[in-house]
Parts: sequence; structure tokens; C-alpha cells
Amino acid sequence: MSTIVQKFGGSSVANAERVFNVARRVTDTYKEGNSVVVVVSAQGDTTDDLIEKAKEINENPSKREMDMLLSTGEQISISLLAMAIEKLGFPVTSLTGWQLGMHTDASYGSARIKTVDTERLQKELDKKKIVIVAGFQGINKYDDITTLGRGGSDTTAVAIAAALKADLCQIYTDVDGVYTADPRKVEGAKKLDEISFDEMLELASQGAQVLHNRSVEMAKKYNVNLEVVSSFDRVPGTKVKEANKMEKMLVKGVAKDCDIARISLVAIPDTPGIAFQIFSTLASKKINVDIILQSIGRDGKKDISFTVPESELQTALEVIQPVADKLGAKEVLHREDIAKVSAVGAGMANNPGVAAKMFEALADAGINIHMISTSEIKISVLVNIKNADRAVQAIHDKFVG
Ligand code: ADP
Ligand code: ASP
Ligand code: MG
Repeated sequence: MSTIVQKFGGSSVANAERVFNVARRVTDTYKEGNSVVVVVSAQGDTTDDLIEKAKEINENPSKREMDMLLSTGEQISISLLAMAIEKLGFPVTSLTGWQLGMHTDASYGSARIKTVDTERLQKELDKKKIVIVAGFQGINKYDDITTLGRGGSDTTAVAIAAALKADLCQIYTDVDGVYTADPRKVEGAKKLDEISFDEMLELASQGAQVLHNRSVEMAKKYNVNLEVVSSFDRVPGTKVKEANKMEKMLVKGVAKDCDIARISLVAIPDTPGIAFQIFSTLASKKINVDIILQSIGRDGKKDISFTVPESELQTALEVIQPVADKLGAKEVLHREDIAKVSAVGAGMANNPGVAAKMFEALADAGINIHMISTSEIKISVLVNIKNADRAVQAIHDKFVG
């Protein structure tokens, strides 16, 4: 007998018919003699709709109340799925994050999981029940509800799999695996039979929303047996695992991130300590800085540009203006009409030709590059948002064909 955690995303439980489809898949696994824990997301566009509802009342609500609101979406799903499973005649219990004991830190809206209680879960499993758990939510030390950030139900599933030392964690979604690029947008995208934790983490962090990046981080840390599979078609999916003898493709995948904005400080002094002043100020406000570019100094002046998540742009501008004033910057510029396009692959390390090939693809497509950043297994470029889809396609055509 195995312990299996199955997670179903929002589109997989969008209506009654789909809820029953999930109920059948879950009970099939249960009938094979397995202990089954199921994690579900809010139905369809529920989370987006709840965000809209909040905005109608208050443009800038507190994060605590947002989490109180957003957690309701998943609570609807768990009860409906439990009712469908009851109807099929199987023993079942649904649990919210706080009933289960999904303990997180206090960062409302992007909470991190600290510990997962297994006592209640195990008690229900021992009673031979199928357990349905609300994804994306937890509880902090103040007994307040928290959420894990958009797409966070994947992380709930992996955290439970790790805590239970489950044999398998399956992420069921509306595509049948991880592809070399978003199969809904990129022509010729190919399904991967397997991908390494490191490559998947990089793809997820660079905008491929098929898996929440923290779920991959956690799966790697606890060596969770993870796979991405289709909710609708019974076909093999993609295994996400430690790289051993895996085929090393130069570029494993291409991803796009539009949630990004650029800030530039123009004509600041070209003297020691300037970058420190800027980035320590941003760090103290917990603003995530991604790509950084500094121009060469000229006449004792230089420019520094960097990117932040679009959602953090206003806060970043507010905290950086006093620093810019103190440094005597000529101006602080910002733009949101940009996107980051990244090529990811473990085979890139020590392969100097990759960057040139990527830039050639963009040159041939007539796409201008604003910024570049590279690491061992990734190259990212910043382009105008209107060119982003074409850039992904051009890079994908060049490397994957
Ligand atoms: P769920 O609601 O099941 O969590 P998501 O919308 O979060 O589903 O993630 C699945 C979507 O991720 C797919 O519909 C697909 O459009 C998108 N996606 C982006 N990049 C990739 C990729 N490289 N491989 C597969 N799907 C991808
Ligand atoms: N319902 C949440 C969201 O839409 C969490 C998830 O789907 O994973 O982001
Ligand atoms: Mg998702």
C-alpha cells in the first residue's frame, strides 16, 4: 500500500462535471488500496474574482483581510469535492489549512510553510478515509489565516507529501506535463518525460506557472517523488527529479515573466558605496531585486538600473526616491511595459555558444534587448512586452526546433 498525494488545480475543479471527474480519479487510486490525500485549488477563476470583489470595496485592503477572503475559494472546493466523493460512496473528510495544522510564517499573501502537523491527517487516513485538504492556505502564530502566494496549492501538496513521506506527489493540471515552453502559446512546444529539480525550479521562477517555484524548492529539499499529469487525459506526464543520467539538452525550456518593472537612477556619483546604499535600502523593505545593470562611469557619473516585481514597483519607487535625492541623481525613471524572457538548461554550463545563439534569434526577429543576465543554467533578457511572445517563439525555434 502506498501513500499518494494528488493535487488538482482550479480548472480541474471548475464545475460540477469536473468535480466528479476528479472524484472518480481519486477514488480509483483509493480502490487500488492506497492512502490518498487530495489537495485542491479554488474553482476556475474564483481567486481572481475574489480579488476583484475586494477592489470594489477597498483599493488597498490589508493583506490580513485579503488572506481571510482568498482562503474561502479553496474552502468551497474541498467541501464540494468531499460531497462528490460521498456521493460515489467512499469515506471522506475535508480539512482546511488550520484544521490540518499547516503552520506558516506571518507574511500574509506570501507566507512560507514552517511545519505541517500530520496527527489529524494520519488519524483520518488510519480510519481509511480519503482526506481532502484546502490548498494555498495556512495559519500563523497569531492564529490568523495566511495564503502562500498565487499558485501556492502546488506547495501545499508537496509539503504534505514531504511531511507524510508519501510515495508519490502528483500535480494534476490542464496540460499533460511540463513542456519546453507554454504549450498554449508556443508553437512546437514539446512535452518532457522528465526534468531536473534545478531546471524546473529555474523555469518556474522565470514565469512558467505550471508549478509554483516553492513547490519545486521543497520537493528538491525533501526529495519528493513529483510528477505533473493531466486531469483530463490518462497519459504519462512529466517526472520532476534529481538529475542523474538525464539527457542534457542545451536549452530545456523557455519561459516568460510579465510581472516585472524596471527602475533606473540616472547620473549618480561613480564612487564606492553607491550600490550598497541603493540595494540595502531595497533589501530593508524586502523588495526582490532581479536583474541589475550598471553603466560605465563617465565624468564621475554613472547610471544604475534594476528590475523588481511589478507589484512591488510603487513601494520600491517610494523608498528609492530619498536615496536618489541624497545621491543627487538627475532623475529616477521607471517602466512597466517590459517582460523577461529566459532560456533554461543544465547543458548551458560551460557552453559559451548559447548566449550568442539566443541573441542571434532575437536579432533575426528584430527584437531589441534592454538588459541581459546570465547564470550557470539560465540566460534572461529584458524586452518590450509587445515583443515578448515573439521573443519566446524565436528562442524556442532556435534551440528546440
Ligand atoms: P492549475 O490551475 O492546475 O494550477 P496553472 O494555470 O497554474 O494550472 O498551470 C498550468 C498552466 O501553465 C498551463 O495551462 C500552461 O498554459 C502553463 N504553462 C506555462 N509554461 C508551461 C510549461 N513550460 N509547460 C507546461 N505548462 C506551462
Ligand atoms: N487559488 C490560488 C490561486 O489562484 C492558489 C492556486 O491555484 O494554486 O493562485
Ligand atoms: Mg497553478
